[in-house]
Amino acid sequence: MSHYKLGLDFAKELDQKDQLANFRSQFHIPKDKNGVELIYMTGNSLGLQPKITKDYIQQELDDWAKLGVEGHTQGKHPWLHYHEFLTETMAEIVGAKPIEVVVMNSLTVNLHLMMVSFYQPTKKRYKILIEADAFPSDKYTVESQLRHHGYDDKEGLVLWKAREGEELANYEDLEAILEQNGDEIALIMIGGVNYYTGQFFDLKRITKLGHKHGCIVGFDCAHGAGNVSLNLHNSGADFAVWCTYKYLNSGPGSLSGAFIHERHANRKDLNRFTGWWSHNKETRFKMRDEFDQLPGAEGWQLSNPPILSMAAIRASLDVFKSAGFDKLCLKSKALTGYFEFLINKLNNTNIKIITPKHPDERGCQLSIQVNYADRALHDKLTKAGIITDWREPDVIRCAPVPLYNSFEDVYQFVERLKTILSPS
Ligand SMILES: *Cc1c(COP(=O)(O)O)cnc(C)c1O
Repeated sequence: MSHYKLGLDFAKELDQKDQLANFRSQFHIPKDKNGVELIYMTGNSLGLQPKITKDYIQQELDDWAKLGVEGHTQGKHPWLHYHEFLTETMAEIVGAKPIEVVVMNSLTVNLHLMMVSFYQPTKKRYKILIEADAFPSDKYTVESQLRHHGYDDKEGLVLWKAREGEELANYEDLEAILEQNGDEIALIMIGGVNYYTGQFFDLKRITKLGHKHGCIVGFDCAHGAGNVSLNLHNSGADFAVWCTYKYLNSGPGSLSGAFIHERHANRKDLNRFTGWWSHNKETRFKMRDEFDQLPGAEGWQLSNPPILSMAAIRASLDVFKSAGFDKLCLKSKALTGYFEFLINKLNNTNIKIITPKHPDERGCQLSIQVNYADRALHDKLTKAGIITDWREPDVIRCAPVPLYNSFEDVYQFVERLKTILSPS
């Protein structure tokens, strides 16, 4: 059934045939203290640095040194409109129209800003639904929003849980929750790709279901952006947010992206927090005008943006543009399919992949549950030159990233895991 084969030669053959293989050389691959490249499987946590990033940041440092404040208009890439250099490629990657996308702030901040506009509780409809094992920051934001509006953060929170003995959330259960309590739920806020299981949710299906019951629907796509085809516009979602330091390789703590569906672009009735960067660009610097709302996602900006971080994002997006996101998604499926094949061939009954088997229901990450394992396994992997992410109680999350991980990386990872797990 599978077209994959065992053995190092096959991994090398796949790398040879891979048209995107040379992109690896455009990244800094971390090395051990002897200068040997590590096997980096944590692009889902912090993406690697493109070699061009330094030049892009240096350019802005040079303009700042040379021009001072004039850099806003006289710089090679004038700072005044710098965020606009990012919009088109970012919109393409998340499947949105440019008017629906802006890069601003950091992720959790944007989540709150979106809820200022899109969580408008009423006496009858005030609850928020999230997936049971949502990323902690997401859970804390919705709990604090509930409290902010005067509701109890336990009573007001509806959890979409996996069934007893299962790891993945099930759409029938979501339907049942909404049939029963849909008229009390103001907002559905789901991680588009679950950070723990790697499950890529059907955004369109969830949105349709939510809208049918009168709920607003938003997604945190931190683990989706740059990893899977999100098609945000077609999903119909009201809003989405994501960070740029995971699959989008823009450096630790870098800025976040936000999507607000075009149908909300000119709404003046929504609650918003505003600042001078939400004001009409043409008249912004007259400084004395009445507030004049910018249309589209840009209208949610508050501050003039941090150019150095944005330069790193521009560098990363240029790498994505030259690789082509569709091609990356195809390679990703091949790479993760190969990874799954090798793990299954270990025939180890203590190992279970909890990520969905269907390639359309996941990105590149596989979450591997290892029975009887503890953190010592993670330490052994680290010693063996592998960077992975350990999640209590017994899951290793591994993400072979198509831009810079090779088929041989995947092969070596599984070989070393096999050695570590084999009884000595
Ligand atoms: C990584 C991640 C975050 C982190 O939020 P920051 O505000 O960037 O620190 C939040 N939510 C999800 C789902 C994430 O994956």
